[in-house]
This record gives sequence, structure tokens and C-alpha cells, in this order.
Amino acid sequence: MAKKSVAAIDPQGKTILVRVDFNVPQDDAGAITDDRRIRMALPTIRSIIDRGGKAILMSHLGRPAGKGFEQAFSLAPVAKRLGELLGRPVELASDTGGADTHAKAAALPTGGVLVVENVRFNKGEKKGDDKAYVDGLAALADAYVNDAFGTCHRTEASMYAVPAAMKAAGKPAVVGFLVEKEVQYLADAIGHPKRPFVAILGGKKVSDKIAVITNLLSICDHVLIGGAMAYTFSLAQGGQTGKSLVEPDKLELARELLAKGGTKLVLPVDTHCADDFSASAARKIVKAGEIPPGFEGLDIGPETAKQYAAIVASAGTVVWNGPMGVFEMPPFDAGTRAVADAVAAATAKGAITIIGGGDSAAAVEQLGYADRVSHVSTGGGASLEMLEGKAFETVTVLDDA
Ligand code: AMP
Repeated sequence: MAKKSVAAIDPQGKTILVRVDFNVPQDDAGAITDDRRIRMALPTIRSIIDRGGKAILMSHLGRPAGKGFEQAFSLAPVAKRLGELLGRPVELASDTGGADTHAKAAALPTGGVLVVENVRFNKGEKKGDDKAYVDGLAALADAYVNDAFGTCHRTEASMYAVPAAMKAAGKPAVVGFLVEKEVQYLADAIGHPKRPFVAILGGKKVSDKIAVITNLLSICDHVLIGGAMAYTFSLAQGGQTGKSLVEPDKLELARELLAKGGTKLVLPVDTHCADDFSASAARKIVKAGEIPPGFEGLDIGPETAKQYAAIVASAGTVVWNGPMGVFEMPPFDAGTRAVADAVAAATAKGAITIIGGGDSAAAVEQLGYADRVSHVSTGGGASLEMLEGKAFETVTVLDDA
């Protein structure tokens, strides 16, 4: 069911409470090292203030203890950066829906922007069971917008209890542009894929991606496996995996997935391995399942990269979650780079291509492919849960279109 969009509400003369995901990475001195999450929320914020509304923004940042203010997790650097990006002053409240927030909200001019402090400073945020906290936020505004895709899989107070309380008070609760776009891309890909539908799954552990593999095997035409998780499958087939990262307690599960997947589940045919986890280690390309003792697999081999590229070349839809190897450490980025290249070429030919958040998004950004795919998701855990076929309660609770 499509959800009502921020575009469909009239913010003029109104105050709008927006849950954003401003959980940006910072260096040791607190400087923001990547402001992509702030920039992604700008269309929604601008749409409110440019149409004569006031915007109050709330977000988490990091994992504070939930016992009040902690300088290291303050949203002050974020408010400052947002002000620079918007080219106008942005106020910061020292609490989250408390006395200072209400005083600053009352003084906010038309077109003004107020950021409230880190929602996770409040112990009521996690469980959503602190009525005073929820009401303090819900009473602030005339409407609620969820534009925090990276947090949509978490039913914390600012994501669920607050919009529920506002809806109960007869106020609109809608999706922002970022959430609308993310959900649409992922839901369309899974619900109505242009075929062949190819999934590429990599990363460290099979155990993290069981639900995704299971769901995608029932929808996709091909599921290509890379990353360290391929070695658990190889071990399950009786292969030699040397000192590669494997999950010995997941062999039975790997066998079940192999049986369920049949020819849909495609495993590497060769492996780029090394005698140490380092760029200067002695290296070898070996057949899959023939990793010598003392060596560990760190990337798919060139023959696998070629085969995966050929499958991707004919795809109508591609979803990709998890790198093919240790892409952070050349030359073990080669497999991920070859697959990224094939995904970019398929996009140019008209395929819909979607990169899951987290490490896969970091890989395509780092390798320079982010602008050559249809969509790079901003949510790691959230995009994984969508690929698992789960619905978000935090979105379901919002008004239908
Ligand atoms: P994940 O968080 O499960 O998506 O895994 C991403 C991480 O897996 C990246 O940091 C990669 O460096 C790492 N990775 C991928 N392939 C391998 C491998 N063959 N051996 C060790 N780590 C790997």
C-alpha cells in the first residue's frame, strides 16, 4: 500500500516534526567525515520550509547510554553542517522534546529549522514506553514525517510511538522523499522485478544473510554468492578452505540452502587466496574448494568474476548486498570491481540495479560506481530487511496515500 507523501501535505504556517537519520560518521575530534545522510534529507526539509512551514528535526547519533546528555554524541556538529548546507541558521535544542525544545519551537520563525538533541539520550527512546517523552515530542508539531530510511527497521519511540500518538490526535503522519524513494525501489524490485532477476550476495557471514538468501531464492532467477560466505558453502560441499573465514556451525544450513537453491544458487569457481591477511602476502589463484593449507580466500577469482559479469550482463533487475572480497585492500578489490563494472554496464543497457547499504554502498562509492547504478540505498540493516521480505511497522503506521 502506497503511503501519503510529504508532498501531499500543506506545511504553510504549520510546524512539521521530521524523523531523519543523521547518524553520520565522525573522526576522533568529532568532525563529520561523510555528510551524505544529511544531504539525503535536504529535499524533504527544503520542501517544508520553502512552502512556508517550520521544521523540527530529530535523529539518533551513535549509541549513547540512554542516560542523558553526552558531549561525544551531541547533534551540535550535525546542526552546524545542516545550516551550512541549507544556507540559513539552524537552532539546536539542548533536550529532546523537553522545556528547551518547546521554548525554541515557540520562537521559531516561518521557514525556521530546529534540531532537537539526540533521541537516544532518552531512556524512553528504545522501548517507546515513556508516555511523557513521547507526548513531549508529539505535542510539538501539526504533522509527522518519517525520512529516516536507515532506521526504518527499528520501532524506537521517535520512529513508531510518536507518529502513532500524533495520528491518534488526528494529525497527519507521512513519508519523506528519501523513505518514499527507498521503499519504492526495493519494493518494486522484489514485487515486480524485470527478469532475469539477479541477486549478488557477499560479505563475511552466511549466518547474517540466511533470511535474505532464502527469500531471494524464491524470487530471483540467479543468486550469485561471493565474499567469505562462499567458503562455508564450499566446506559444506567437501572443499578445502585452508584458513579462510568459515562458519563450521553453519554447514548443515549451507547444505539446506544448496539443496533449496539448485542451479539458481551460483558459487565461485575460483578463488584469489593469500598466505596472510595483507596486501603484500604471497598470493595464488586456485580452483574453488582447493585452497591450500596456510592460505585464506580473500576474493573471488578472475574466472568467477567473468562468469558473474556474464550473468549480470543479461539481467533486467540486479540487487547487490555484500562485497565479493576484501575490497578495502587491493588487489583483493578486483572481484568487487569487476562485478561493479558489470552492474554499471547493465544499468546503461536499461537494467534496474540496486545496491544495498552498508559495506556494499561503501564499496561502490569507493570504487567510483555510485553514479552508474540505479539506486544506492542509504540503509544497511533496513535494506537487508526489505530484501528479506519484511514490512516495516514504522512505515505501515503512517497514513495511506
Ligand atoms: P558484511 O558486513 O557481512 O557485508 O561483510 C563485509 C566485509 O566482508 C568487508 O569488510 C569485506 O572486507 C569482508 N570480506 C569479504 N570477503 C572476505 C573474505 N574472503 N575474507 C575476509 N573478509 C571478507
